[in-house]
Amino acid sequence: MEENPDWNESNVFEIMPESYKAHLTSFRPYLRGYNAILRLNITNKIEADDWLKDFSEKSLTSYRVDRTFPENTPKVLFKKEYRCLHNSKPGAPKIKGPHAKNNACRAKLTITIKQRGMKRSKDKYLKDFPCEVILRYIHNHPVDGKGGPKQKRPSKDVEDDVLELFSKGHSPTTAYESFRDNLKERYGAEFDKIAQDTTKCPTQQWFYSLYYNTYKRKHLEANDDGIHCQGDANNDKEDDDSMSSSTE
Ligand SMILES: [Zn+2]
Repeated sequence: MEENPDWNESNVFEIMPESYKAHLTSFRPYLRGYNAILRLNITNKIEADDWLKDFSEKSLTSYRVDRTFPENTPKVLFKKEYRCLHNSKPGAPKIKGPHAKNNACRAKLTITIKQRGMKRSKDKYLKDFPCEVILRYIHNHPVDGKGGPKQKRPSKDVEDDVLELFSKGHSPTTAYESFRDNLKERYGAEFDKIAQDTTKCPTQQWFYSLYYNTYKRKHLEANDDGIHCQGDANNDKEDDDSMSSSTE
């Protein structure tokens, strides 16, 4: 899995509501987003709902409940899994067009509030930060809000050149390489300087974004499943990890 240095921890905090404190306990960047695990000082369901509302507003992304879990169990006070609004349930009729909501975005988040009274827990955050948020922030559509890598928008000429590469059959990766090769040829020793300027030499992430959000939607809109998020959430952390490892 290729990692993208453009994403970093600060992208996570840019979209975190200020109403609650957050510790980032895990972060993994991918080309088109990242997986992050956070601990928050949220202690009940109402606060969790408030947080999700604030988070949606701040990140300009929206979520719907995807899965519910039993509440008030010995280990878990509250747990819910949410999916991006740009993802309808499997089997839902496909909506086509530029404003299609059903574009199978696989971004999701899981909120778990653990029971703070758990005995023998080795979870150091349990007492003050009982809420765990697993964030799979990999959207396959433009997210206009904060939380994206900082770069100036490439010029229209650059965009047209890259769209032409796509129409010649290039993938985002080969288009990126070919585009950079052309710049090297054109600018020679100046290339290193040009490469710093995202208006002339966009990031690879931008190539992906243009490919999936503009080119692919326009040209191959139909019924293929060609839109994939990079990387699977590989969060093997479960809500009761702190218990299972302790010995009796
Ligand atoms: Zn999404």
